[in-house]
Amino acid sequence: MTNYDKSKIREQLTIDNIFDLLQEWGGEPEYTSFGLLCSTICHNPPGTGSRKLYYYENSDLFKCYTDCDCSFDIFELTAKVALIQSSREMDLNDAVRYIAYRFNLAGDEIQEEDVGLLDWQYLNNYDKINEKTEIRNQEVKLKVYDKSIAKNFCRCGCRLSPWLKEGITQDAIDHSNIGYCFSTDQITIPHYDREGNMVGLRGRTMCREEAERFGKYRPLLLNGTMYNHPLGYNLYNFNNSFSNIKVIGKAIVFEGEKSCLLYQSYFGIENDISVACCGSSISSFQIKELINAGAKEIIIAFDRQFQQIGDAEFKRLVKKLENLDKKYKNEVIISFIFDKKMITGYKASPIDEGKEKFLKLFKERIIL
Ligand SMILES: [Zn+2]
Repeated sequence: MTNYDKSKIREQLTIDNIFDLLQEWGGEPEYTSFGLLCSTICHNPPGTGSRKLYYYENSDLFKCYTDCDCSFDIFELTAKVALIQSSREMDLNDAVRYIAYRFNLAGDEIQEEDVGLLDWQYLNNYDKINEKTEIRNQEVKLKVYDKSIAKNFCRCGCRLSPWLKEGITQDAIDHSNIGYCFSTDQITIPHYDREGNMVGLRGRTMCREEAERFGKYRPLLLNGTMYNHPLGYNLYNFNNSFSNIKVIGKAIVFEGEKSCLLYQSYFGIENDISVACCGSSISSFQIKELINAGAKEIIIAFDRQFQQIGDAEFKRLVKKLENLDKKYKNEVIISFIFDKKMITGYKASPIDEGKEKFLKLFKERIIL
């Protein structure tokens, strides 16, 4: 088994990754001015503690203000959660390996035996916990923000030119209220629920250092309000595509918001059947939303997250798609856009490199 360099893995982790982990573990995290705040999951099972677990971005450390009364890092927290939620004893190396695998941070170093050794049962336990949280959350309405704020940002071409150059039309930008915020140097992307309520506002930073430190996409922080929302409990662009999905019976799921804007640009807003799950995995909540909307086929159009056929990333992606198929095939047809001929670039979304390539990939999509 390979032991990964803890500090190297830690350097690559973004605050969004930590947010995702806390969410998966049932901590119900929220972004704050200092980092993240969530319920204690360090010494108790999810749903039983108070909101006293703090994550400080500047020190990279968690502090539990009730029972633990000490500071620990994300790897130590992983081990604590594994013990409480899966009765599994993890040492530091196990925790680092788990995180490296979870976010695909090991790069070429990941070894065949590590993939084999990954305890699927352990990961499945997390799935189960996740589902429980989802059932509970389905009854909870997402917080609704004042949507007028999204209309105040600059809409002019000069600031949005990087996106216009990639093929997104001004129409699509206007239709989805994409803008530019000067004070934070971000392209602003309002997220709406199916009914058109604004449930989040995310920004794509144009500052390279910030992108490296925090990741390219993060919720906007404006006048002390953090416009965040749990990404797995909403579908980006569903407000635009819902009625078409109902009529056509098909939905296309991209990873990122920009792919939906490209889809509208190439095929017309009136033909839009796209949504984005806003991450590299789709939650069962999101799948159920699409089925409830009348989707008979859900087309998974994820990024080409592998360099070569058969490499570790490739295997991980195939495994992920197989699991999706296994989980939902009795309820809906799940098909996959899978660029096995590698006509698009590494990490590209299938729609990033133009309409022709997308249509080719779409026609050749596979059903397992
Ligand atoms: Zn604690």
